[in-house]
Amino acid sequence: MNDPITVAGLTVNPGEKKNGLLTIPEFFADGQAMEIPFTVLHGKEKGKTLYVQVAQHGSEVMGLEGLRRLITGLAPELMDGTLIYCLPNPLAFRERARATILDPKPGGMNRVWPGDPHGSLTERMAYLIWTELVVHADEVVDLHTAGRNAPVWVFYEADGVSKLASSETALRSEEMAHLFGAPILYVEAEAYGGRKTLRASCVDNGIPAIVPELGGFSQLDEETVMIAYNGIRNIMLNLGIIEGDMAIPETQVKLEWLAEPKKFYAYADKGGIFIPEVKMGDTVEEGGRLGIIYSPRTFETIQVLKAPQTGYIFTIREDPVVHQGDPLISVPRLLERTKN
Ligand SMILES: [Zn+2]
Repeated sequence: MNDPITVAGLTVNPGEKKNGLLTIPEFFADGQAMEIPFTVLHGKEKGKTLYVQVAQHGSEVMGLEGLRRLITGLAPELMDGTLIYCLPNPLAFRERARATILDPKPGGMNRVWPGDPHGSLTERMAYLIWTELVVHADEVVDLHTAGRNAPVWVFYEADGVSKLASSETALRSEEMAHLFGAPILYVEAEAYGGRKTLRASCVDNGIPAIVPELGGFSQLDEETVMIAYNGIRNIMLNLGIIEGDMAIPETQVKLEWLAEPKKFYAYADKGGIFIPEVKMGDTVEEGGRLGIIYSPRTFETIQVLKAPQTGYIFTIREDPVVHQGDPLISVPRLLERTKN
């Protein structure tokens, strides 16, 4: 039998599900409080605790529907362990924006972790989430959404990038990325986001963590919804919180993320009309042909786009109208193709 858990002042008994609020009084100029909603599903039996959040970049909501299907189907009385869910950034969420206009930092909330009780609005929210919710977690999944027609991938950090993160934490993060079941694992071979992301703060504090980047901006793409659903579920299964069979794709690719985009992007050197000659998921050799740019005045080809390195076609710019310096095709190195 499990013990009750108290999360941000909310006591949840074994086998119960409760909704709570992190409240910051006198938050806004008009005296209104900030309320950050969270949900705790506390298992009847003891076990691990998984913390999941979605839309800290307020417009990145693709994880919500998968979570809805998962959380409404979970029975805490059958769980061994705990799931904590949070909608961490109500400010940016209600504005449908990556970052709130009231605190418009580049990178938004995901550059302020683990927060600051004396900082900006966003830093104060992050601090409260960190100290009241994340503190309970054995592992963390921070759901984001990439651009429309983007592939679905999972960010995690390579072992050795952070001096503070142990190999054990880094390797478990990689295992979580595999378990999430996205077709692409995107390993950060160098430090990302000034190490002020939730993910970086977690691994530096011994909490394995991943950042799934789901495709589609606002539409509910069924395939992506099910990746999110199965991804969280697989990790809960692996942690022993729930029972059942995992759903992991037969193959996944592991790509290398580098801090300097110039190393793996092909850029427009001429302004004009861009026509790709490769598709996402192709592999190319360094110097290999990726597409052309032609002049809309003469229809002459003015640039043949070449691969900056041997790698995997990860993203292709959709809009054909390009100016000098626009990044067009990303070709990260393909580190591994796994068969599961
Ligand atoms: Zn994001």
